Amino acid sequence: MNTIKVINPCNGEVVGECKRANAADVNEAIVSSHQAFKLWKKTPVGERAKLQHKAAEGMRKNSELLANILASELGRPLAGCLTEINRSADLLDFYAEEGLRLKGEIPQHNIEGEKALIVREPVGVVVSITPFNYPITLLTMKLGAALIAGCTVVAKPSEDTPLSTIKLGKIFNEAGYPSDVFQVITGYGYEIGNNLIEHPLVAKIAFTGGTSTGKRIGQTAAAHNKRTTLELGGQSPAIVCQDANLEVAAAAIVRHGFANSGQFCYRVNRVYVHESIYAQFIDKMVEIAKKIKIGEPFSGCDMGPLVNQKIYQNSEIQVADALEKGAIVKTGGARLTGEHYDKGWFFPPTIIADTNHTMKIMTEETFGPVIGIMPFKTNEEATDLANDSEYGLAAYVFSENLSIALRMAESFEAGSVWINNIHRSYHDVPFGGVKQSGIGREKGRYGIEAYTELKTIYLNY
Ligand code: NAD
Repeated sequence: MNTIKVINPCNGEVVGECKRANAADVNEAIVSSHQAFKLWKKTPVGERAKLQHKAAEGMRKNSELLANILASELGRPLAGCLTEINRSADLLDFYAEEGLRLKGEIPQHNIEGEKALIVREPVGVVVSITPFNYPITLLTMKLGAALIAGCTVVAKPSEDTPLSTIKLGKIFNEAGYPSDVFQVITGYGYEIGNNLIEHPLVAKIAFTGGTSTGKRIGQTAAAHNKRTTLELGGQSPAIVCQDANLEVAAAAIVRHGFANSGQFCYRVNRVYVHESIYAQFIDKMVEIAKKIKIGEPFSGCDMGPLVNQKIYQNSEIQVADALEKGAIVKTGGARLTGEHYDKGWFFPPTIIADTNHTMKIMTEETFGPVIGIMPFKTNEEATDLANDSEYGLAAYVFSENLSIALRMAESFEAGSVWINNIHRSYHDVPFGGVKQSGIGREKGRYGIEAYTELKTIYLNY
């Protein structure tokens, strides 16, 4: 078979198919990308910016169509898919403008007849490898930065949700990008991954996905001296202090923990609540979680299914493990059944209380709609528990005392910290992880600089 079938996770039906590329396809794409790079790097940045704004406009014009494709392959409610498309278009616009501000430097050596120019150059052909959960956002985080910097891009989306990325490629073509500046190649990571990474004409691998996949990619890339940005898994903690605004904290944690059915790298996975408000806070979370409507993406619901059996099973395994070790399920906990659910991978919002760090729910990435909760006595204990993880993508703290909250934020081993609410991430600030959650930063000028390399030109006059 030289195609891959794409499955609707709500009912198991085939919604489309894509090419199952092989090594020869990879070579062809990269050689032509390298050819395109020779001209693209010489294109004035103002022209690149204009094209990028046109592509963003194309995304907005096609947003309903794109969102429909995304909803059908991923199962996320349509409104959330539309938001993803429009926010990604905004990110392209932001990168286009930020690219205009890239600068070199001339140090003041004050040596007669001599100067040194420090200039930034695009690194070259970039391979982008992305996961299933936010296929458009996670690609545009790389694509918008790489293209404006003067790199060309070969994008390999997840085999679970490739159709929206294929459509995005067409939108970029229609915007007028020169041929092969941005290409999409589809296939299984385990089949063509090494061909993409090891190819001598590839300069950089920009990867978002699971930690074990990312580490393997990092090893292969290092062996061939390729640059990498690795955005990997997470297991993010939230601390709710004694003096927190409980209404705000409960709403934010439930919203964030169950967004995209929990298939969300920096979602709240575990919550530490001060013992004096522990029972009360759990009740609030449960009350909000119970109101979440679950269904297929076009039904006006709040939450859809998990994308496939492998991702689905993780939630079941973690719930069973927690129950066996003495935790209590406060809501959810078992697969949804009935006419609307039997053919899909539907798992309800699940809150597990009285957990501890022997349990998978508190230590391993869930990537599903399950949150573990544990009481704490002192803020020091809570901070230690938050940092007791191999991951370090995000952390959250709720306390009306800003001095406590800021001290905790400073102590967290995490790439991003939210204090007192969980608002959406901004386009101009860096995003990325520490520890096993990754290497490098995306977004903002930091994200663009990651697709450039510095060159020093010595000048004698
Ligand atoms: P995954 O690691 O299974 O796959 C991600 C991508 O890597 C896919 O395109 C896949 O085809 C490709 N791939 C797989 N094996 C490969 C190989 N040997 N060589 C090259 N490419 C290969 O991840 P997934 O299941 O699609 O997504 C879930 C994971 O992504 C979670 O662990 C989640 O935390 C992570 N994620 C991280 C972030 C972040 O920004 N840190 C964002 C979203 C998702």
